[in-house]
Amino acid sequence: MPAHIQTPSSPLSRSRTPSSPYIGRFAPSPSGSLHLGSLACALASYFDAKAQQGLWLVRMEDIDPPREPAGAADAIVECLIKHGLHWDREILYQSTRTTAYKHTLAQLKAKQLTYYCQCSRKMLRALDGVYNGNCRHLQHTQGAIKFNIQHASTLGLNTHVSFSDTLCGAQQQDLLASGDFIIHRKDGLFAYQLAVIADDIAQGITHVVRGDDLLDVTFNQLIMFEALDYSAPQFTHIPVLLDDRGYKLSKQHGAPAVDINTPQKNIYTCLQYMGFNPPQHATTLQMLSWGIDAWQVKYYS
Ligand code: GLU
Repeated sequence: MPAHIQTPSSPLSRSRTPSSPYIGRFAPSPSGSLHLGSLACALASYFDAKAQQGLWLVRMEDIDPPREPAGAADAIVECLIKHGLHWDREILYQSTRTTAYKHTLAQLKAKQLTYYCQCSRKMLRALDGVYNGNCRHLQHTQGAIKFNIQHASTLGLNTHVSFSDTLCGAQQQDLLASGDFIIHRKDGLFAYQLAVIADDIAQGITHVVRGDDLLDVTFNQLIMFEALDYSAPQFTHIPVLLDDRGYKLSKQHGAPAVDINTPQKNIYTCLQYMGFNPPQHATTLQMLSWGIDAWQVKYYS
C-alpha cells in the first residue's frame, strides 16, 4: 500500500463541525506491526474521540529510522483500515517534520532551556538514573541536547508537575528530582519527547489516550507544554497489555503482529481486556459502534 494513503470519512464518524473542541490522536512508532497492545491503544483513543464527537487523527512517529523495518508504517496503516478505524484529516508523518522540530528546539533554546550534554551512558548509570546536571554550565557545542529543568525553575515554570489522569487519577512528580531529559539525540535525531509535544501543539491535540507505560514521561511533556505556552491536553493512560510472563506486550518482547484478517475477533479481545462485555457475533463496524457507546456510558455519563 502506498504511504500517505487516505481513507474516506468513516461511516461511524460522529464528528462535530470543524470547530470541534476535541482533537485526539493515535501515534504509533513503526518499529514493527501493531500487536494487540498497540491495537488496544488505537481503539481506546478512537472510542474516546468518537464518544465525544471529536476528531481522531493518526500520526506516524517515524523519527527513528534505524529502528523502523521497511514497510512497517504502511502495515500499520493497512491494519487500521482493516479494523475499520478511519482517521480524520491527513496522516502526519514525523519524518516530514524536521523543520518544525528545529523551530521548537530553537524556541526552547531562546529561553535557555537547552544545553549540550556529553556524559556517556556509563557515567549516567553511575548516577543511579538521576542526572546531576554536570554539563549544564560547561558550554559544550555538541552532544545530546537536554532540557534544563533547573533553568525552567528559575524562569518560574512549574517543576513540581501534577495532573489528573482520567483513568489513573492524581499524578505528581518533582522534575528537579527526576532530572533533565534528552530532546535531541547525539546521533542527530530528534527525541520522542520533543517531537511528540511539537506535533501535539501543531495538531491542536486536546486529548491524549495511550498506554500507561508513558505515564512517567508525561511530566516532561507537561513542562515543555508550559514552556511553549500551550494548554496541555487531557491525558488518559490505559493499562498496557501483558503477556503470559507479565511483560508488557511489545515488539522487543516478541509480541506477535495482530492478524489483520480477524478484525472482529481482535476488537472483541481488546474490548474484553478494557473491561467490557461485547457481543460475540457482530461485524467490525458494529463492534466499533458498540465500543464507542460502551466507552461513552462508562466514562462520560
Ligand atoms: N509513539 C509512541 C509509541 O508508539 C506513543 C506516543 C504517544 O502516544 O505519545 O509508544
